[in-house]
Parts: sequence; C-alpha cells; structure tokens
Amino acid sequence: MTPPPSPLTGQGSCTLVGAGPGDPELLTIKAVKAIQVATVLLVDDLVSEAIVALASPTARIIHVGKRGGCKSTPQAFIEKLILMAVREGETVVRLKGGDPFVFGRGGEEVEHLQAAGVRVTVINGITAGLAAVTSLGVPLTHREHAHGVVFITGHAKPGSTGTDWKALAATAHSARLTLVIYMGVSGAHSIQDQLLTGLPASTPVAVIQNASLTSQRHAVCTLAELQRTITREKLMSPSVIVVGDVLQGTLALQQALPEARTARA
Ligand code: SAH
Repeated sequence: MTPPPSPLTGQGSCTLVGAGPGDPELLTIKAVKAIQVATVLLVDDLVSEAIVALASPTARIIHVGKRGGCKSTPQAFIEKLILMAVREGETVVRLKGGDPFVFGRGGEEVEHLQAAGVRVTVINGITAGLAAVTSLGVPLTHREHAHGVVFITGHAKPGSTGTDWKALAATAHSARLTLVIYMGVSGAHSIQDQLLTGLPASTPVAVIQNASLTSQRHAVCTLAELQRTITREKLMSPSVIVVGDVLQGTLALQQALPEARTARA
C-alpha cells in the first residue's frame, strides 16, 4: 500500500462536524466552536437553518444538499471543493446531519481527503436514531427488553447486496436487539415483510419524522401495521423506524388511548 501524501504545508484545516438531528441545543460545545470559527462551511441537506445561523456572518456557506428538488452535489465535487478551500488556507467545516460517521458517507469523505494529504478532524453529533427514540421517552436498551441495538440502513448502496432482513430479524429476536432503521420509509413494505419472518407480528414499532425539530411527528404501531401506518399518517423522510420491545409501554399506552396514536413532540 502506498502511504498517504504528507499533509500540505501552509494549508488550512478541515473539520467534519456532526450537526445532530436538527435542534441546535443538541449540538456539542466543540461543534458550536468549530462552526463559529469556520471561514467556509459546506452544509448538508438535513442541517437546520438555526444551526447554519451560528456561523460567522463573513463565512462562505455552500449548501451541498438536495433541497428544492435539485440533485445533491456529487460526492467527488464536494471533496474537490473542500480540497480547494483547504489549499487556499481556509478553515473549512463540513457540516453533516446527526453524527458524521453514522451513514451519510462521512467515512468515505475522510478517506478521500486524507489520501489527498488533508488532515481531517471529526466532531461527533447526536445521531438521529438516538434523538428520535429519546424524544418518545424510550431507551434504546433496557435490561428487561433489549440487550443491544442495531443501527441499520434501509437503503443500501446501489448495486450492493442489500441487508439480509430475515437473518437480522431472527438475530434481533433471539439476541433481543432494538433495530433502528435509517432511510427506511420508502422500502418499509419490503422491510416489514422480511422482518415478519423472524419477529412476532405484535412487535412494537415507531416511526419518527423530523426528530428534535418543532415539526417532529411520530406514530407507534405493531410490525404488522408498519406500512399501513406510514401511509395513513403520511410519514415521510427524514424518518427513523424503530423496532423492538423497548417500545412495549408506549404501544400499550397508545392501544389504551387510541387518540395518542400519532403525536407531535
Ligand atoms: N448521519 C446522520 C444520518 C444520515 S442518513 C445521523 O447520524 O443521524 C439520513 C437519514 O437519517 C434519514 O433518511 C433519516 O432516516 C435519518 N434522519 C436524519 N435526521 C433525522 C431527523 N431529524 N429525524 C428523523 N430521522 C432523521
């Protein structure tokens, strides 16, 4: 393996910052400091305006998401922009929703930048799945209900073998795991069918959209009802789907009080 080129001299810096699920108060202090000193910010789609507003008024802000129905900026172009700015001596912050290393291709970005000789610092953010479940007052693990948790994408890289949901369902059942599915709304029907091969139809499920934002909505149902509930409640991306017995109490409450079926936070 060829060693990465040595860091460029006289260059600026690049920090990958986790912007959390949306609520600016969920940012880390480190993240806020990095955003405030940045001279160039490259901002992802799911980063809220309130967070971008923390940047210096003189900073250059580049939106690289797919807002307004436009296509997202190609990954290679984003990396090129970062590289150019760092070479010009800028203090670059790459703002990514949630945690930079939980999906969202943060790992790829760091690899490419390091290969080009740029030293990258990474600041954690609260990942959406964690914030979503907590907003319902539900723990991801619980000694009585779940011994572990799996963060998993419902949308594998095009061309790659997708997740073996049937195997995952069997493992989640026997090992008592909570499943937190990102990017799963559009494929929910198929995910539901496959999970039902290994998990009881009565397994509680929650779908949480826009976690931590004032626009947050959620629905709780059984696994057998997942797709029907998403359709009926018009739940859309960005949402996380949480599957597991940690939601038993929430589901029981809702079955006792049906008007609590969907709720704003
Ligand atoms: N790095 C991010 C995930 C990026 S992948 C993180 O750690 O949270 C994008 C997916 O994250 C969305 O499709 C959705 O499943 C989830 N997501 C991001 N923000 C969300 C939010 N505020 N509420 C619910 N889901 C969210």
